Amino acid sequence: MISLDLSAVRLGATAVDKTDAIRQVGRILVEAGYIEPGYVDSLLARERVANTFLGNGIAIPHGVPKDRGMIKQTGVAVLQVPGGVEWNPGDRVHLVVGIAAKSDEHLQILTNLTDVLGDPAEAARLAHTTNPADIGQRLSTGTAPAKPAAQPLPDDLPNHFDTVITSPHGLHARPATALVDIAKGFGATIRVRHGNRAGDAKSLIALLNLGIESGATIRVMAEGADADAALAALRDAIDSGLEEEEETAGAAGSADLPRIDWEGPSVAAVAASPGLALGPVRQYQRGKIVVAATARDPAAELTRLDRAIEAAKRELAELYEEVKARAGAGKAAIFRAHAEFLADQGLIDRAKGLIREDARSAGYAWEQSIGEQAKTLAAQQDALLAARALDLRDVGRRVLRMLAERIEDEPNLPDTPVILIADDLSPSDTARLDPALVLGICTAAGGPTSHTAIIARSLGIPAVVGAGDSVLDIADGSPVVLDGNSGTLVLIPTDRDRANAERARADMAVQREAERRACYQPAITTDGARIEVVANIAAPAEAGRAVEAGGEGVGLLRTEFLFLGRDQAPSEDEQAAAYTEMVRALNGLPIIIRTLDIGGDKAVPYMSMPAEENPFLGERGIRLCLNRPELFRSQLRAIFRAAAHGPVRIMYPMISTLEELKRAKALTEEVRLEVGAAPVEIGIMIEVPSAVMMAEELAAESDFFSVGSNDLTQYCLAVDRMHPLLSRQADGLHPAVLRMIDATVRAADKAGIWVGVCGGIAGDPRGVVILTGLGVRELSVSIPSIAAVKAQIRGLSMEQARGLARRALACSTSAAVRGLR
Ligand code: PEP
Ligand code: MG
Repeated sequence: MISLDLSAVRLGATAVDKTDAIRQVGRILVEAGYIEPGYVDSLLARERVANTFLGNGIAIPHGVPKDRGMIKQTGVAVLQVPGGVEWNPGDRVHLVVGIAAKSDEHLQILTNLTDVLGDPAEAARLAHTTNPADIGQRLSTGTAPAKPAAQPLPDDLPNHFDTVITSPHGLHARPATALVDIAKGFGATIRVRHGNRAGDAKSLIALLNLGIESGATIRVMAEGADADAALAALRDAIDSGLEEEEETAGAAGSADLPRIDWEGPSVAAVAASPGLALGPVRQYQRGKIVVAATARDPAAELTRLDRAIEAAKRELAELYEEVKARAGAGKAAIFRAHAEFLADQGLIDRAKGLIREDARSAGYAWEQSIGEQAKTLAAQQDALLAARALDLRDVGRRVLRMLAERIEDEPNLPDTPVILIADDLSPSDTARLDPALVLGICTAAGGPTSHTAIIARSLGIPAVVGAGDSVLDIADGSPVVLDGNSGTLVLIPTDRDRANAERARADMAVQREAERRACYQPAITTDGARIEVVANIAAPAEAGRAVEAGGEGVGLLRTEFLFLGRDQAPSEDEQAAAYTEMVRALNGLPIIIRTLDIGGDKAVPYMSMPAEENPFLGERGIRLCLNRPELFRSQLRAIFRAAAHGPVRIMYPMISTLEELKRAKALTEEVRLEVGAAPVEIGIMIEVPSAVMMAEELAAESDFFSVGSNDLTQYCLAVDRMHPLLSRQADGLHPAVLRMIDATVRAADKAGIWVGVCGGIAGDPRGVVILTGLGVRELSVSIPSIAAVKAQIRGLSMEQARGLARRALACSTSAAVRGLR
């Protein structure tokens, strides 16, 4: 047991910022003989990865465990800053309690400190006292009421629970992001302890740095008004697996895949994405980002840094949407984790400190800050956690590109089909690849759960990972065989290897070709009911691809694509050109153009939309368009101009009342007369429960309905479709949602209009049958699903479909619906 030595208490100090305060308390620890001077950097390093702010104006900087060798003797020093120093935005600290802990002799001091934490008046008294003995007495042994048997360690907070992390790979980026997301929803200070280390539960980096492996017991601690609620939410989330996705698909199912014994010299790697590829190697290089070392105007550099980070966040939000649309929310989640890195105050503060104090340029400072943090992560024992350093570098590079003076040797992406080899591919690299030009992917590093693997699978590109550095020496152009089924890279394929690879590929191609040929056949059930299968698209080039894939038109054009990722709204001419291009590509097939569905999760910076508490319940979709008639009119004019070139239907998103529909129609009619265009069919999305309840009235004003089951599920079940934990419960096949669709179809039948579905369940094999049975006449699905959906309908009778639909409507849970045979 030690007591606080009064010579280690400095009163009446001032500090320009947190770093200065930590340096000062570090100096006291040095002068008291507790630490070597080098440990001061360790105090600062700790602060960059974990938040040592305790609450009530108290912070307890302490170094990182690996530097414990620089502690000569356990001791505590106190720097009193009566005027306070900003620790985190909004958090001011008056008592900086520096800790050099070689053993647990200082625990009594910390126990006493926790008492002060719960006593704001006492904290204020100590913050302003002019007598060092006040602090000495309050924090020293035995002067505070004895605590029960609790064993507080640095950072411990009064309320807590202990739990075991069962995620198979420990608390890696995705589950940690889920935890951070929840923690940020509460005002309480929340920390997680693992062994003798603790970190801020609202900082992704802090959590990752705890190195929490599968099976580890952690303590989740909270303090503040909503501490109990926060702990309950976190316990629930951890108990339900923290959105861990089953990602063993690389290995799963491989037993069914063709196995080939290769003859030529090969590298054994990890099978990451199934399939075979034969082609020339192309080594993937990244361009060198050059930044200035110093800058004259720190204020300008700080602004540049903020802007670059904001721009990178916008890019990540778009990438998330893009990958989500292509491969689902689970696959896209990594880009949300990346955005979370960019919200990390420690990273940003470090970079800003370098700009302010060392006159560094924004680029240099950011590169430095990312480099330091990535190094700390990479040093983790747990390979999976260490691998997250790659994510941090990836997101760091995204920002750095925007701060670059120039980028040297920027490689062109391949323009002929190749097998791409790289040390490791970041999620951003992989998402940029064109599946048509990348026959296969081989990385030297990485494992089956790496993002390269996940995204390669979603793009349908065969991949092997963890092949070792030797593959980086293979010359560009060398012909290789990549076997994503067994995890092999055949370096010098023999004639027989080539023949085997060609045959296997040919078999697969035959199968695909059979599907492709059948994709133009209409989707007619065995008893003669025709279902139209059309495409959801979000880019001009996709219209032609939809037709090639067998789409009988476009059931949903998400026009937001024209408005995102730019500085100002597209002009009417630009929109008209884009819509016309798609109408022409469809060559007489119908297209449903949905008017702008901005808002909710899709924010557009240049529209200066005020922040909303509940954006999904705010100015979204048609509401935004009705509030900004010029924006709406310009889009409608462009649509009517495109309608001169082929069959166009207009659809309004997010209709929740009859008045909205009438106002939108009136405006549309005005614009039509202005343009002098012929009338077009006008329909609405059914995606809000009120629209279902008012379906009869809405049907009287509509030519068709299209059920947006993604949003209908969200609003029906009150589950945010983007929620990191709950979105898994947002199952569009829940009986509540199916009953809503049933009611919609019945109302539409009465009014004599047809109903389509353009949400995710339209492409779900079970959804296809149930929706067909409910009387839905059009299924609008992603382009790759068209052939399969049509084939499925051709094998189905209406009687079967109706039977399944009836039984689904009678179910009580979505699990029961999915379990129906
Ligand atoms: C839907 O909500 O189901 C839908 C198709 O629209 P979006 O996903 O674009 O909101
Ligand atoms: Mg929607």
